[in-house]
Amino acid sequence: MNEHLQNDLLNLDNLLEIVKDQGLEYLNKLSDRQTSTKSVKNGTLSLSEIGLGTIGTLKKFNERFEPIIVSSSGPRYWGFVTGGSTPAAIVGDWLTTIYDQNTFATKGQGDISALIELETIQLMLDLFELPNDFLGGFVTGATMSNFTCLAVARQWIGKELGKDFAKEGVSGNVNILTATPHSSVIKSLSLLGIGNNNIIKVKILDDNREAIDITDLEKKIIELRGEPFILISSGGTVNTVDFDDFLAIKKLKAKYNFWWHIDAAFGGFAVCSKTHKYLVAGWENADSITIDCHKWLNVPYESAVFFVKEQHKHLQIETFQNSNAPYLGNPLENFSYLNFLPENSRRLKALPVWFSLMAYGKTGYQGIVENCIALSNQFGQFIEENNNFELLAPVRLNTVCFTLTGKENQEKVYTYLTLLNDTGKVFMTPTIYNGQKGIRAAFVNWRTTKNDIEIATKLMTEIINELK
Ligand SMILES: *Cc1c(COP(=O)(O)O)cnc(C)c1O
Repeated sequence: MNEHLQNDLLNLDNLLEIVKDQGLEYLNKLSDRQTSTKSVKNGTLSLSEIGLGTIGTLKKFNERFEPIIVSSSGPRYWGFVTGGSTPAAIVGDWLTTIYDQNTFATKGQGDISALIELETIQLMLDLFELPNDFLGGFVTGATMSNFTCLAVARQWIGKELGKDFAKEGVSGNVNILTATPHSSVIKSLSLLGIGNNNIIKVKILDDNREAIDITDLEKKIIELRGEPFILISSGGTVNTVDFDDFLAIKKLKAKYNFWWHIDAAFGGFAVCSKTHKYLVAGWENADSITIDCHKWLNVPYESAVFFVKEQHKHLQIETFQNSNAPYLGNPLENFSYLNFLPENSRRLKALPVWFSLMAYGKTGYQGIVENCIALSNQFGQFIEENNNFELLAPVRLNTVCFTLTGKENQEKVYTYLTLLNDTGKVFMTPTIYNGQKGIRAAFVNWRTTKNDIEIATKLMTEIINELK
């Protein structure tokens, strides 16, 4: 055994103590750490012959990278849709690494971690008030969740056309109807061999909405003359968090033959709020649903779930079965995650979620979600009341999409955003909405408070004055 490896084994308790202390130092100062950095040059390293040992390596990491790591898990990182990690999720994640289980088998044969995953899926269904006729599993993110759901949808549409796409490959037209899909949906369609040119774009409700126009949807369905199709709907678009009308889609589903997928990566969490759960009313009728966990559930990356109706289980197994390995058993007899989703070997992704859901329960997540909604409203109100800014869309849930007032200021929007982000005290991301340059702030971190909004709005006012 390598000398360093041997030493590390003897020294493990000390190593874990050191890392615990360093982790605490980071977490306790998260609010003061910079939200962005300009220094990224570090030169290059080559692999050392005998290694540095863990202490030496930690020292190296702390020299090279630690100081430039930004507080993307902190309370004022509002770019993209970025969550943090609850204490229970961190504990679950540590244990995931320590136990180092491979989550594919069930029934306790060598590994019971898939049972933890199945139990966690039940807890997630409870949180989302979804019925038990959904089966689910963990993947790396909403991109892979969309991919997984749409892969089963692809198999479904093949069957409708009398083909087995998993065996024969995709052929013919796969009709996809959607209005404002997330970029990862487009990517998934490419990966799945469906081709994103096959999207039939349905109109949005009007110029200031991203939700699907139900009348136009029905018109497009009728134009398909009974051909099967996949409807990809939005449970929270990224720019303006708009929701398709799920109750209206439910009615269409009773009339026409289609696979209904909902991308509710973060918007699905509206169900945790008494005042906003109406946004997802009817979603339990979908065939498949995408939910991200590393966003609003506040567990570490990489974590997301897919839910697919149990009635489609055989389609899912046809799509993902790994049955050419005799030692893995018959996929239809023994449920195994490796026959159910893209990966074979996986870490125990469910454990951080299991910990966080058990630790904080329904009201814990209701609190996190309602706090984020209240903060978005507070921030949205600041934008509305300040003459320098204007909202590009109403604040519907947890995201504020705004710009600088006046056409003449359009070319200054991104300069302004850069100045703001360069303070390192708050981070937002650029967007384009309705042909206008804009800025988005998304609130999904459990740590964010009113005080953070005040810090940001004060800075925003100072910087707008500099820009003038
Ligand atoms: C974030 C997001 C995705 C992609 O999620 P990843 O976790 O980055 O893979 C997909 N759809 C929606 C609506 C999202 O917000």
